[in-house]
Amino acid sequence: MSGPGLPPLDLGQARLSVQEPQVRYDKQGERSDAERLAAANATFARDFGRTAALYMESCIHCGNCAEACHFYLSTGDPKYTPIWKLEPFKRAYQREAGPFAWAYRTLNLKPAVTVAQLEQWQELVYDSCTMCGRCTMACPMGIDIAGLVGLARHALFAAGLVPHELWAVAERASREGSPLGATPKVLKDRLEWLADDHEIEIRVDAPEADVLATFSSIEIMKYPESLVATARILNHTGHSWSVSTRGYEATNFGMMSGNVAWQRASTMKLIDAAIACKAKIVLLPECGHAYTALRWQGAAMLGRPLPFRVLHISEFLAENIASGRLRVGKIGRTAAFHDPCQISRRGGATRAPRFVLEALGLELRETADAGDLAFCCGGGGGVIANRRADALRYKAFEIKMHQIDATGAEIRLTSCANCRQTFDDGAAHFHWDKEMGSLLELVADNLLEPGTDLSPCPRGEEELTAAASY
Ligand code: SF4
Ligand code: SF4
Repeated sequence: MSGPGLPPLDLGQARLSVQEPQVRYDKQGERSDAERLAAANATFARDFGRTAALYMESCIHCGNCAEACHFYLSTGDPKYTPIWKLEPFKRAYQREAGPFAWAYRTLNLKPAVTVAQLEQWQELVYDSCTMCGRCTMACPMGIDIAGLVGLARHALFAAGLVPHELWAVAERASREGSPLGATPKVLKDRLEWLADDHEIEIRVDAPEADVLATFSSIEIMKYPESLVATARILNHTGHSWSVSTRGYEATNFGMMSGNVAWQRASTMKLIDAAIACKAKIVLLPECGHAYTALRWQGAAMLGRPLPFRVLHISEFLAENIASGRLRVGKIGRTAAFHDPCQISRRGGATRAPRFVLEALGLELRETADAGDLAFCCGGGGGVIANRRADALRYKAFEIKMHQIDATGAEIRLTSCANCRQTFDDGAAHFHWDKEMGSLLELVADNLLEPGTDLSPCPRGEEELTAAASY
């Protein structure tokens, strides 16, 4: 793999020329440097298990990960080499926990990490990593750099060294239950208004339900049509379902900021709500990291296997179309699909959205590197919350924008509201005349009533064009 217009990276040479990051960093609290360092080291020691240690020992410095990372490819700056983002943590491991730790300490082969270095590294761990895992796919040693960046964030959070905006939304989510102010009352009011406005039944706080529907705050506050679409689809399938004001917010800024206690609290709200209504399925919204937080990390938060299935909405759509519970009309246009990293590459649900697109009669025009190797939009992992990262994020977004343009597709779709928001923001920045739509909303707009002849599509051409003009 090589980047657009860039020579292959010589990691050995890159390390010599690497300048440590020099951007603004933020601090929380009034602690001394020694206290911050102690907190980071304690967290680091706690989280650094055998697997992480093995990863640290395995790097052969081949540089493949650099050529997979959109931040390196779009800038050519060696400091964005993925494994370099972990350098202070590698140094801490070698001095404190590695097999030759005594030698590193006694001979001072690896100087101790300082608070100044952690401050400097804040940019690499938070601003220039979306935890997309593309580097992990490229690494011949299988080193999960994205996962290690997640651990590095735990240490930086413990030290009070988190970008301010990300810290603020995470703190708000822990206090109010939502990073964007979608409190239970706001949600309830909004659902009532949407139900009236769209003449649709939306069940809230049902004592029992087979499916517990959840949302992301981006949907609740920015894309409320997604809430309506979810209700339409669930009503269409005939499942018993409900929203719960006890647990509805699927985003997890505790996870993205690096605060495990906040992460657990957010996850447990969903789990408790699901158990309370005896849900068999927790339906996750169009949100990538929500899937990682509950599908892959939820059982660890609960301390035992989850007593329900966790499905991303694209998986739910595919399952219900396949079983005949959901019937959709054919659209007959060309479409490009943006794979959300946490759903496709990290989540493994790469085929589900493609099955849905096929059922909708869309001709899929894949981008280069589609599916498991798709490039990130640049706004995941909390990066979009961090204003100082905007310039870098736009550079990474350009890769995606050019790839989408190259497909020549008439419509563009994704299944993550955070990606959609990143596309909206990138399009406004570049005056790009393309809009990113929601797979969920497109399905809801093209549902067929029971008994409808499947072919030809019963909707008028004009109505179809409106529904598909994302
Ligand atoms: S996880 Fe993604 S953003 Fe982070 S270093 Fe790897 S490729 Fe780059
Ligand atoms: S691809 Fe893997 S082995 Fe190669 S430099 Fe990156 S982390 Fe090290």
